[in-house]
Amino acid sequence: MAEPEKKSRTNAEWLALHKKHRLKTRFTSPMVLERGDGLTVWDVEGNEYMDFHSGQVCAGIGHANPEFAEALSKQLSLLVQSGSIFTVPPEIEVAEMLSEIAGPPFTKSVFACSGSEAVEAALRMAKFATGKFEVIAILGSYHGMTGGSFFVSSNSGFRTGAYGAGMPGIVQIPMPNEYRCEFACGGTCNLACARQARKMIEGSTSGRPAALICEFLFSAAGVIVPPNNWLTEMRKLCDEFGMLFIADEAQTGLGRTGDWFAFNHSNIKPDIIVVSKSLGGGIPLSAVIVSDEVAKTLEEKGFGYSSSHSGDPFLAAAGVATINIMRKHDLVTNVREMGAYLKGRLEELKKRFEIVGDVRGRGLKLGMEFVEDKASKKPSQPATREFTLRCRDKGLILGNNPERGNVVRILPGFAITREQVDYAVRIMEEALVETTATLGAKNGKTTAELVTAKT
Ligand code: PMP
Repeated sequence: MAEPEKKSRTNAEWLALHKKHRLKTRFTSPMVLERGDGLTVWDVEGNEYMDFHSGQVCAGIGHANPEFAEALSKQLSLLVQSGSIFTVPPEIEVAEMLSEIAGPPFTKSVFACSGSEAVEAALRMAKFATGKFEVIAILGSYHGMTGGSFFVSSNSGFRTGAYGAGMPGIVQIPMPNEYRCEFACGGTCNLACARQARKMIEGSTSGRPAALICEFLFSAAGVIVPPNNWLTEMRKLCDEFGMLFIADEAQTGLGRTGDWFAFNHSNIKPDIIVVSKSLGGGIPLSAVIVSDEVAKTLEEKGFGYSSSHSGDPFLAAAGVATINIMRKHDLVTNVREMGAYLKGRLEELKKRFEIVGDVRGRGLKLGMEFVEDKASKKPSQPATREFTLRCRDKGLILGNNPERGNVVRILPGFAITREQVDYAVRIMEEALVETTATLGAKNGKTTAELVTAKT
């Protein structure tokens, strides 16, 4: 029988259908993506883009990675689904790999499909292991869309809605932010925020919280790197109050920051690690990795956890393949080296353009904060929007919703080359010149006042 002729639709035609059938829940980009190769994606009309957001920060090993496709094709024809009653070799293999990568004291893992689900499991583990229920979270963080993960989140805008009473016992403590410190640290953390956190825990909890959930590089909040002295204070608070430290490495985990985990850049260790996104190479796979001590307590007390897809062979095989590819091509080293190079290039742009207030981050998890001018540091959403849309129209996808916020997230794939960095920076430079000129005109200021160097 002849194949039915494939209907080719334009971006606009697809989007009209999207509008008709897909519930609108967030900003939608005007291009409809069809295929990818490494760092490149193409829309249905054949327009090419360089993806500096790695899908949604999940395709770390690149789009349509051939080694990944081969490994997963094999697994597809072997066994896809087993559920939580049976165990399967890929689940055991990926758990073993995660203990090797995380190193001592981390020995055991359980699996889920999304970051939200893994955060949910981690919170339950902390409550079950400690026999306590209160949770300390960081104001401004994002941890997910499910019940518990949603209510420990607080990045602006997401809580709008009549969602009623959330999970009880959550206290949100201040986020350290050296660029915009609410405690006037002047750019170097003096731990005033940590002192405030202690008072909040003492005053607003029973004094016996179960856990602190914290990222080691605040992602949705605007790529903010927590200072090491603050992390050390958080570890001390955990030990003092008997809380377990949950590191939400959903976004930073598996190489993104130039080390396997972001906690490796600090001198402290959490008790529980959540990892997702890059772990599955684009396939929905997340894990909760626990220390030996937490594992023993959970097993002794009989912690129950299962879901239909936990540790499924196809999903776990995606984790095994991702880690194998990352090890074989030493992608973590590439992230570290190319990340440092890209950050250096972005810092050059910061020096030249008044609207770039800050460049920060680690590895290939970088952020550019847009301001009206460096002295006032007044956040500029219009500049962020203009810059992001101009980059997109020139073929560079960046990681931010152009309708919100003033930080552009820059998160390319792990195998990026120097040439690809240079190409993207050239696009960003052009977009900065144009953004500055456009906003200068709109503000009634001349371009020369806003561009600090000739381009
Ligand atoms: N934790 C963090 C730090 C995240 O950035 C995210 C997603 N952006 C999540 C949890 C939730 O992950 P998911 O969207 O896969 O549920």
